[in-house]
Amino acid sequence: MTCETCNAKFSYFKVLKSFWLGYQDIKCDHCDSTYEHKLSNRVLGGLLVMISIFVSFIIFSDKPKLVPIIGFILMSIVLSLLLPFIMKFRRLE
Ligand SMILES: [Zn+2]
Repeated sequence: MTCETCNAKFSYFKVLKSFWLGYQDIKCDHCDSTYEHKLSNRVLGGLLVMISIFVSFIIFSDKPKLVPIIGFILMSIVLSLLLPFIMKFRRLE
């Protein structure tokens, strides 16, 4: 994602970290503009968690309980690596 004010690029990990910290606002290092997650990001995050739970509990339904839980955690981590590419932000005034 690129800053609308100064065109500086936000790093991939900055965006990913803000997701994992609960949709924290992102601040541009160059011009101090602040961006908040759009609602669609929260929907995506919710879907990601639901899909991970759903899939891992189906795949590992005959395994001990701990296995689907670990599967869910790993799957949500892997899927979240894609999120910075599709998340949208809105600049705060
Ligand atoms: Zn900026």
